[in-house]
Amino acid sequence: MTTTSPTVHRRTEPIRPLDLFDIDRLLESDERDIAATVRKFVDTRLRPNLADWFESATLPKKLAKEFGSLGLLGMHLPGYGCAGTTAVSYGLACLELEAGDSGFRSFVSVQGSLSMFSIHRYGSEEQKQEWLPRLAAGDAIGCFGLTEPDFGSNPAGLRTRARRDGTDWILDGTKMWITNGSFADIATIWAQTDEGIRGFLVPTDSKGFTANTIHKKLSLRASVTSELVLDGVRLPASAMLPEGRGLSAPLSCLNEARFGIVFGALGAARDSLDTTIAYTATREVFDKPLSSYQLTQEKLANMTLELGKGVLLALHLGRIKDRDGVRPEQISLGKLNNVREALSIARECRTLLGGSGITLEYSPLRHANNLESVLTYEGTSEMHLLSIGQALTGYGAFR
Ligand code: FAD
Repeated sequence: MTTTSPTVHRRTEPIRPLDLFDIDRLLESDERDIAATVRKFVDTRLRPNLADWFESATLPKKLAKEFGSLGLLGMHLPGYGCAGTTAVSYGLACLELEAGDSGFRSFVSVQGSLSMFSIHRYGSEEQKQEWLPRLAAGDAIGCFGLTEPDFGSNPAGLRTRARRDGTDWILDGTKMWITNGSFADIATIWAQTDEGIRGFLVPTDSKGFTANTIHKKLSLRASVTSELVLDGVRLPASAMLPEGRGLSAPLSCLNEARFGIVFGALGAARDSLDTTIAYTATREVFDKPLSSYQLTQEKLANMTLELGKGVLLALHLGRIKDRDGVRPEQISLGKLNNVREALSIARECRTLLGGSGITLEYSPLRHANNLESVLTYEGTSEMHLLSIGQALTGYGAFR
């Protein structure tokens, strides 16, 4: 007599999504160490508080010093108290920070890649000595004002005006959506002058300078976003960034920050996916774990594929940047793809969490909401499509 043995479903040891790609083997040991250090800081210091910070729309100012003591501020810049790491190490730190919350990565991006980079690249030696060591330590906070209420995607039209009065400059205008604006000590402000767009270092305690915090945000709540008003702000001649002329100067700063986003957004995606894999392993539906169903596994497999491809693209761009430099349209490839895919992953993860997914107990919807801002700032996805389109065809289709 023959007997048929019952079907036994054995569960093999699950592998984490990026381990499936053996990403760690593509990293140098110091790069792995930096990523591990930031991950630990995020998990022990930030993660326990971040849902509360998001809900109460707070980013504690004292975190600046903690980021500074970890060497995260102006991390990829040489000298002046900055760590001077490779671009890849900086990218990995951004990824780990954003695995916590896009607000942390935004703070570090704006401080290091926009405020500090603008001073490092375009400032006088006196400006560098005065500001960079303090900004690197987190003893001072910087912001970067390019966007205006009527000019976001097209900053060439900006209306903030700097006019001469003797040797002084007088600045008038309004900047909008400025990260770190309300708690910054120094603002890099881009303004029209008789010789085109120039950058100015504006101490935020200058007479005529006001920062108004933007409230009721549904995205990037653990981040300070502000309107800046400059009403006859008088600055000495030495406030101008001497080496930055024309729109290419602020755009080069944005390119630096975008590079951090190419990596950073994937941190939000990785955290969403890790959270969801853990949830679906324990959530039982129709008498079995949710993760054991084919529909679930299709979603998890597709998300893992996009996450891994995004990390490979980010690493490729980082290696290029460290070796010979990276072109703006190459950064556009990374920013467009990785933010778009990260947002899609975070939303898909939310579906697998069911009703539980709509609370702050689980990260995916928080990440998805944050990534809506990341999709828009540092060039909207449409602007990056147009930049890639121009590179491919030779025709600019911006207007
Ligand atoms: P708009 O330019 O009005 O765009 C609206 C829509 O129109 C978008 O979908 C856009 O892609 C589309 N569009 C525009 N032009 C075209 C075209 N030619 N063809 C087709 N579609 C087009 N700015 C700073 O300077 N410093 C900061 O620190 C900073 N931080 C920010 C933080 C947050 C949370 C946010 C949300 C924004 C921040 N920004 C900052 C501003 C950000 O860079 C702008 O919001 C962004 O550039 C888009 O500009 P806009 O909001 O005016 O949108």
